[in-house]
Amino acid sequence: MTKFTILPERQKQIHEKDGKSFAISCDRHSVAGSVSQRACVFCGSRVVLYPIADALHLVHGPIGCAAYTWDIRGALSCGPQLHRLSFSTDLSETDVIYGGEKKLRRALEELIPRYRPKAAFVYATCIVGLIGDDVAAVCRQVSHTTGIPVLPVHSEGFKGTKKDGYRAACDAMFKLIGTGSVDAVGPHSINILGEFNIGGEAWLIKDYYQRMGVEVVAVMTGDGRVDDIRRAHGAKLNVVQCSGSMTHLAERMQTEYGIPFIRVSYFGIEDVARALYDVAAHFKEKTTIMQKTRALVKAEVERIYPQLQVLRRDLAHKKAALYVGGAFKAFSLIKALKQLGMQTVLAGSQTGNADDYALLAKMCDPGTVIVDDANPMELAKYIVEKQVDLFIGGVKERPIAYKFGIGFCDHNHERKIPLAGFEGMLNFAREVHATATSPVWQFTAHRKNCDNALTKAGVPC
Ligand code: SF4
Repeated sequence: MTKFTILPERQKQIHEKDGKSFAISCDRHSVAGSVSQRACVFCGSRVVLYPIADALHLVHGPIGCAAYTWDIRGALSCGPQLHRLSFSTDLSETDVIYGGEKKLRRALEELIPRYRPKAAFVYATCIVGLIGDDVAAVCRQVSHTTGIPVLPVHSEGFKGTKKDGYRAACDAMFKLIGTGSVDAVGPHSINILGEFNIGGEAWLIKDYYQRMGVEVVAVMTGDGRVDDIRRAHGAKLNVVQCSGSMTHLAERMQTEYGIPFIRVSYFGIEDVARALYDVAAHFKEKTTIMQKTRALVKAEVERIYPQLQVLRRDLAHKKAALYVGGAFKAFSLIKALKQLGMQTVLAGSQTGNADDYALLAKMCDPGTVIVDDANPMELAKYIVEKQVDLFIGGVKERPIAYKFGIGFCDHNHERKIPLAGFEGMLNFAREVHATATSPVWQFTAHRKNCDNALTKAGVPC
């Protein structure tokens, strides 16, 4: 059996549930040399703001930072498509020496008249932080001359973790909130936060709320519109999914505008039903909302449950590993996998905190490995040791799964199908079934020959 080594500095960020007291170190910078799966601060901001479809997104930095931003993400828009493009100031050596402010101003003054966005977001990257460009001053000047909000996003990649990027994005967006009219906003209204419309998920969720009789003022940020965000302070409740990314904004809106918030998840039957019931309970004075919610949940569960049962037959007792951005998604996935008869043997996240991991430990079976800010070697180790059949992750986890010849389900921002809501649960089950039971794996080096596969891949054994 291959022996994988865990770096000594990483050992406290991994816990195998063994009945002893739970302790895990988290919420810290990645260990140098660990090749973390975690993304940078700029990436965190990009995740949150990019789905705003009628805004201009300009990455102020070298072109490499803008890689993986041009029409590669699954956030859909039913109208403008400006978010699918990504612009970069393409800073080079000369700009690093003489400063990039002029180039930034020229880029904005060229792009804004050409694309006529409702607002522009300017993302500061590592080098911009190092050379000290005054991005905020340039944004202020261009905002004055063009008449649209031009918002700096202080997302220098080195200055923290992906979580700091979420915060920077929320701070930029907060400047828009409160600048629009709320005259037409009704008393049973919500904002949806932390829903990015991957594969059209926000449309499914919005449809549920409309069927319940609840008005959606703004989705932040899936299929997002600047004008909706401007009037978001008129909503009576903030409903926060992906709590790591948007709780900061919800807290600021609570302080500034007195809007309460609840945390929800739309993944898995149990959690999506809970989310809808929690919103209905918030508006309990209007009893028809709860009645409509009950009818909706009943109809949806009756529609998908028999199909899930059929898929479950082949999946029962298969083992899953999951590594996701935020721990809140991991909770829902563990429940959804249980619904399919599967066992989670590895659960990890890029940005979980101590409370998240304590809850994960409670939910998981003995022997489950819980990992914070993993690297590929650690994930590989547990895939082999735990005899995993299915890996759920994102674009950076996919090659790890395929190298070991096991099924993979993309639950990140590059996927093209909705996995949220009731319909999403059915899609998820179909995808898990298709990949975990695929006959292709019998031709791979899975398990018996994994030492061989690792050696070929250049991984020291
Ligand atoms: S902001 Fe920094 S860490 Fe992030 S992609 Fe650019 S150079 Fe890399």
